[in-house]
Amino acid sequence: MNRAKYIFVTGGVASSLGKGIISASLAKLLQSRGFSVTIQKLDPYINVDPGTLNPYEHGECYVTDDGAETDLDLGHYERFLNIPTSQANNVTTGSIYQAVISKERRGDYLGETVQVIPHITDEIKSRIVFLGNTGQYDFVIVEIGGTVGDIESLPYIESVRQMRWEMGNNCLVIHLTLVPYLTTTGELKTKPTQHSVKTLLEYGVQPDIIVCRTERPLNQAIKNKIALFCNVLPNAVIESIDADTIYDVPLLMRNEKLDQVVLEKMQIGSGSTLNLEKWEEFVFKLKNPENEVNIGLVGKYIELKDSYKSIIESFIHAGATTKTKVNLRMINAEALNETTVVSELKGLKGILVASGFGERGFEGKVKAINYARENKIPFFGICLGMQCAIVEFARNVLGYKDANSTEVDPKTPFPVIGLMKDQKNIRAKGGTMRLGAYTCRLTEGSKVRTIYNTEFISERHRHRNEFNNAYLSDYEKAGMIAGGINPNENFVEIIELLDHPWFIGVQFHPEFKSTVAKPHPLFVSFVQASLKYSGK
Ligand code: GLN
Repeated sequence: MNRAKYIFVTGGVASSLGKGIISASLAKLLQSRGFSVTIQKLDPYINVDPGTLNPYEHGECYVTDDGAETDLDLGHYERFLNIPTSQANNVTTGSIYQAVISKERRGDYLGETVQVIPHITDEIKSRIVFLGNTGQYDFVIVEIGGTVGDIESLPYIESVRQMRWEMGNNCLVIHLTLVPYLTTTGELKTKPTQHSVKTLLEYGVQPDIIVCRTERPLNQAIKNKIALFCNVLPNAVIESIDADTIYDVPLLMRNEKLDQVVLEKMQIGSGSTLNLEKWEEFVFKLKNPENEVNIGLVGKYIELKDSYKSIIESFIHAGATTKTKVNLRMINAEALNETTVVSELKGLKGILVASGFGERGFEGKVKAINYARENKIPFFGICLGMQCAIVEFARNVLGYKDANSTEVDPKTPFPVIGLMKDQKNIRAKGGTMRLGAYTCRLTEGSKVRTIYNTEFISERHRHRNEFNNAYLSDYEKAGMIAGGINPNENFVEIIELLDHPWFIGVQFHPEFKSTVAKPHPLFVSFVQASLKYSGK
C-alpha cells in the first residue's frame, strides 16, 4: 500500500467505554494480517501535555522513548502492538493552540483573522497526516478523546469531517457506543446509540462502523435495528461484550470480523491470513495459571488503579510468562508506620514501591522497604521507590540518621538523593524533567546483568533527582552496589543489595516497556523471585 489510510475512532453516550482498547485491538488485527499500523490519540484538554496533570485527574502519565509525556492510552498501543510510539502519537488541544498562536506571533498568518476553522482544524489535520506521511504506516488509527457532543472535542470532529471530504475512501469512521441493558424490563436499549449517531450526523460525520459496548450479547434483531436507524449495514454493527481481560478484546473483535469489515469498506485486499497464535497463547497462559503469588504495590494513588496502569499491566505480562496469577495488593504508603507495617504487609511475597513526587507517603515507603530488606522479601523499587531504598539504607545501615532526599528535606545533613545539576535552575514545570530513553551500562557480575542478559540497556525516565555519587563508595562497602550506570553522565540508574535474594531499585520506568510480545525481564524475574520466596 502506498498511501496511508486513516481510521477514526469516536466515542458516544458515555466516556470510559474503552476506545483505546478497541483502537489497539483493531490495530493488532491489522498488524497480524501483515499491515503496519500506528495509533494516535487526540486529547481535548488545554494542557499542552498530561505531564502537569495529577494522576487523580488523568491516571498515569506515560512516557515515550523520545521523552514525550503522554496519555496512558499510548501504553495500551505499545503493549498491544509491540512498536514504540512517539511525541507525534499524542496531540492535545493545548499543543494545537500553542502551535497556532506561535505561528500567529511569528507573522505566518499576516493579515488573516485566525479562526477555529480553518486554522485550528488545519493544524489538527497536519498532526494527523504527519504520521501517515512518514511512509511507515499502511494505517493510522486516530482515537478521539472525549464523547461526541462535548464542546471541547468539536474541532477534532470537524477535522474528521473535512478529512473524509478531502480523502474519501482513504478515511473511515468507527463510532463506539454503549447499549445499556435494563434489568427491570430485561431489554437492551438502542436509543442512546441512535441519539449519539444523530449528534455525529449533525456535525456532518456518518460513521461507517458502530461498535456497541454491552454486557449482554446483541441478537441480530438489535443489530438490524441499530443498522437501520444509523445508516450502516448490519454487518457493520459490531458487538463488544464485556471481557474478563482487555487482552481478550482482539480475539472478540476477530470473531466479530471488525478487521474484515474495515478492509472491505476501505476496499483493500485482506492482507495475509490473520495469525494470532502468539496472542492466543499469551491469553491462554494468563487464564490458566499454575501458581499464585501475593505482591504488594506501595503507592499513594491507590484508590485509582489507572495511576499505576503500566505497572499493573507489566505484572499481567510477567504473570502469563511465568504461569502465575499475581494477586496485586494496593497498599497506601501513608498508612504505613512503625505500628502498622507488619500487619499491612503480612502475607506478601514481594513488595514493589512505586514512583511518585513530594513528601506525602515518602516515610511510609521507606518503612515498607525497611521491612522488605530486613525480612529478605523480594523488593522492587521504581524511580522514587529506588530513591526511598537509598534513603532507608543510609539511615539504617550506614548510620546517617537524618539522611534524606532533598526533594523531601532540603536541609538534610546527608543528601543522598538530590536534584540533578541540569535541574537546578529550572523553575517551569511542563516538560522539564529528565525524560525519555537513556542508555545504561549494567555492571559486570550484577544481578541485573544476568536478568537482562546484556551489557547495555535503554530505559525511559521521568525524574529530577538522582543518587548523590559522593556517597557511592560508602554504599558499595556496605553491600549496596550500583547495578547500572549511565555511561555519559555517570548517574547511578540501578542499585541492588548483595546480601538479599532480590532487592533491586531502578531510577527509570521499566513498566513503560513491557509488552505482550516482550514482557519486561525485571518484572518476570521479580515474580519468579516472589514465587521462590513463597516456597513455590
Ligand atoms: N520525585 C522523584 C524525582 O523527581 C521521583 C520521580 C518519579 O518517581 N517519577 O526524582
